[in-house]
Amino acid sequence: MFNIEDFDIKLDTEFIGRSFIYCEKIDSTNSFLLESTIYTQNGTVLLAELQEKGRGRQDRIWSSNPDQNLTFSIMLNDKIKPNRMNIINLGTSLAIAQSIENLYQLKVNLKWPNDVLICGRKVAGILLESASIGNKIEKLVIGVGINVNQPSFQGKYPIPPTSIRKEFKDAVSREKFLSEILNNFEEILNNCSKNPEKILNDWKSKCEMLGEKIKVEDEKTTRYGIFEDLDSEGHLLLKIDDKIEKIHFGDVSLR
Ligand code: ATP
Repeated sequence: MFNIEDFDIKLDTEFIGRSFIYCEKIDSTNSFLLESTIYTQNGTVLLAELQEKGRGRQDRIWSSNPDQNLTFSIMLNDKIKPNRMNIINLGTSLAIAQSIENLYQLKVNLKWPNDVLICGRKVAGILLESASIGNKIEKLVIGVGINVNQPSFQGKYPIPPTSIRKEFKDAVSREKFLSEILNNFEEILNNCSKNPEKILNDWKSKCEMLGEKIKVEDEKTTRYGIFEDLDSEGHLLLKIDDKIEKIHFGDVSLR
């Protein structure tokens, strides 16, 4: 069971997680918050033990044992600028990485745009979804799945999974971990408008692929080049021969 009191005592935010919902089972935490007309407070967090229709990009599924991990969504609906979406995406993975390093002293590596890896193994997945009216983003939900205390993983994965417990060699408190993530996330979010450069630099400092020869694949094309940099909006800049190409999405791997 998730102990809300233990979580709340460590939560040090102004708005993220101040409206908090915990449930055993739901279709998808992202869909619920996107569609809800009741839970509309900016920064609402919904944590569910089991998502029956949890999903990643292109409807890739996130599988997670109930009661062992963290699968939750954060809802934002206050002045979301479309050009900040990528930075929020990168910033979410950064908040998770900082929390893992602070609490468990494990070295974390980030893979563009938002994969969180420990020793080449994936510990978290993130999916941003939004609802817009015209050009205006009315609501943004950030879905997060983190392998926390799951001892083992069955099945095949493109990137092998791991959990905090496997790497830390001990079970950890999900309550303390979630509050640490939300504390770090709120600070990062505040920096999105004040100091986006800091988010980009902190993210880059944890990205081992930066400067390396990489492959970027989307549904249609595969590109090869050097991971030159991120631009000011968080897009990947790929150097192909002497040209720089801006990548908006795709699966990145070392060549
Ligand atoms: P990827 O970076 O692997 O291409 P993605 O960014 O498209 O994934 P995510 O939401 O991060 O999408 O994660 C979904 C992917 O993660 C699925 O393709 C699945 O293979 C893998 N996956 C599902 N459950 C887990 C898990 N518990 N731990 C690690 N990986 C998982």
